[in-house]
Amino acid sequence: MIRSTVALLLATAAQADEPPTSPTLAANAEVARMLDFGDREDFAFAERGFVATLDDPVIRDAQGRVVRDLRAVAFLQGAAPDTVNPSLWRNAQLTSKHGLFKVMDGIWQVRGFDLSNLTVIRGRTGWIVVDPLTTAEAARAAMGLVTKYLGARPVSAVIYTHSHVDHFGGVRGVVDEADVKEGKVAIYAPAGFLEHVLSENVIAGPAMSTRARYMFGNNLPTGPAGHIGTGIGARQAGGAVTLIPPTREIATDEALTIDGVRFEVQLTPGTEAPAEMNLYLPELRALCMAENLNGALHNLLTPRGALVRDAKAWADYLTVARRRFGDRAEVLFTPHFWPRWGTVAIAETMERHRDAYKFIHDQTVRLMNRGHTGTEIGNMLELPPELARSWFNRDHYGTVSFNARAVYQRYMGHYDGNPVNLAPLAPADLARRYVAAIGGAQKALALGQEANAAGDHRWAAELLGKLVFAEPANQPARAELARALEQLGYRSESAPWRNIYLSGAQDLRGEPHAQEAERGASELARAMPLSSLLDVLAVRLDPAKAGGVSTAIAFADPSTGERRVARVGRSVLIHEKTDAPAAATVTGTVPTLLALLTRARTAPELIGTGALKIDGDAAALQRFAALFEAPPPSFPLVLPR
Ligand SMILES: [Zn+2]
Repeated sequence: MIRSTVALLLATAAQADEPPTSPTLAANAEVARMLDFGDREDFAFAERGFVATLDDPVIRDAQGRVVRDLRAVAFLQGAAPDTVNPSLWRNAQLTSKHGLFKVMDGIWQVRGFDLSNLTVIRGRTGWIVVDPLTTAEAARAAMGLVTKYLGARPVSAVIYTHSHVDHFGGVRGVVDEADVKEGKVAIYAPAGFLEHVLSENVIAGPAMSTRARYMFGNNLPTGPAGHIGTGIGARQAGGAVTLIPPTREIATDEALTIDGVRFEVQLTPGTEAPAEMNLYLPELRALCMAENLNGALHNLLTPRGALVRDAKAWADYLTVARRRFGDRAEVLFTPHFWPRWGTVAIAETMERHRDAYKFIHDQTVRLMNRGHTGTEIGNMLELPPELARSWFNRDHYGTVSFNARAVYQRYMGHYDGNPVNLAPLAPADLARRYVAAIGGAQKALALGQEANAAGDHRWAAELLGKLVFAEPANQPARAELARALEQLGYRSESAPWRNIYLSGAQDLRGEPHAQEAERGASELARAMPLSSLLDVLAVRLDPAKAGGVSTAIAFADPSTGERRVARVGRSVLIHEKTDAPAAATVTGTVPTLLALLTRARTAPELIGTGALKIDGDAAALQRFAALFEAPPPSFPLVLPR
């Protein structure tokens, strides 16, 4: 099996990038006809206040590896090529603009270095940094540009608008943790920030990061037939994801002064992130809407996977923001996309963008209550023309279809109510039976080819997806499915959809690509309390090894004085804070225990450095450690597991 897969990978490696079929060309031409490409307001906003970009366009890490090459987006000029939806092409042209931009006196942004923006606000003594990008290297390069053109000033404070990694991961590129510990730099975040950073990135991290690679297209080559952007910004920067926990989590809508600048906070939990906040700066009449207001439709459920978001709360918070800030703000800036200027335009954007989420919520629920399922509504619902024509409501990131299914999921869950779907067969089993029912692999392939030839690529993907799940080593089936996915990618208005389709085609063809390095889950895990570390351990327990085992190990964290006993029995790990006896006691901080549990360091090594102490039955601890598995670094998404 392994050998035949390798042979297959080699045999199919040269078939990428087929030209768009005529139905794909027709679909893209219809988009070009339907939307108002003469409306250039976004281009004026995205170019306004440009100061300069990097002289050396290649951002590197300390080892000299390329973190981001700004030259790679130079092809995004002129009319859309046949391989890109024209609406998405326009989005990519806008989000790829890079450099330092003046938002207003006192506020600047570095855009286009990463999928998010770094904002600096001039405080009394230094810079207040809002959202320091995804990686330390990208953030350091951004601050270098700020220093070069605006002068050297210390960073006096950092604000994380929300708990997603592209809004805090670069923090070590802008501040020293020692300065934070000494109280020289304060870090602000909305209530619940650290808890949600950990639950989103650590517990479900391995599954999410694999899916995120598809969604953000991290393994795709940049170019007209490949990666053109992420819909919400430029390509994600490489480098080290870091975290310094906030020194102050803001728990109520309050007014506060940070380094001499006044802020009014609006907390918006449960919207785009479980912990998020908008900020209004009354002296500057500037409004930061975090990721609650964007230059495109956002996700109510991200395709990388996360808890489903609350469309109604999102719309309601936008109504409150409109009321509180909409008549005062003269400039609106966000950690993605570009700013907007003018009180009237800002207020109208807030209302129209709010209406898009409200429409998707209300109409999905209306159709749900008429008996339609999520899949049906996802195929039915469209924004009305008066909302759909606003560029900031287009499907460049989230889509109406995916969002409608998300609203259904939030209220009703994954089951659609049809008894037929109560206990579905496993996908690979189902696929084998369907292929047999169709009349065998040859027949299924012929039908898939026919559908592709007719431009019916969604049906082709359905048929061929079954065939590939039934026969994952069937090379013609994989090549034909790759064709269908590629055409769907070329048509997608959403960058995540395009990236997901093209990544699937890439994997089916076995195209060689650089495997992305591990992106810092362990750095995030270092900030976990002991209880969260043991929660992670619990979801790695292998019942095949734990069956019949009954044992208890105590873990003591000398930095907090906390002692918890982890008990394994009946193939379940339960842990609690207790003085109860245990077979062995392991004393070490969370980073030390992580190094031990992830086998990055051995117990004798850690004991040798004095970081770790083991009391009691060392053999019992060894048996305990053997009960856990490490998740694979990634897994196939377009093939059966
Ligand atoms: Zn973001």
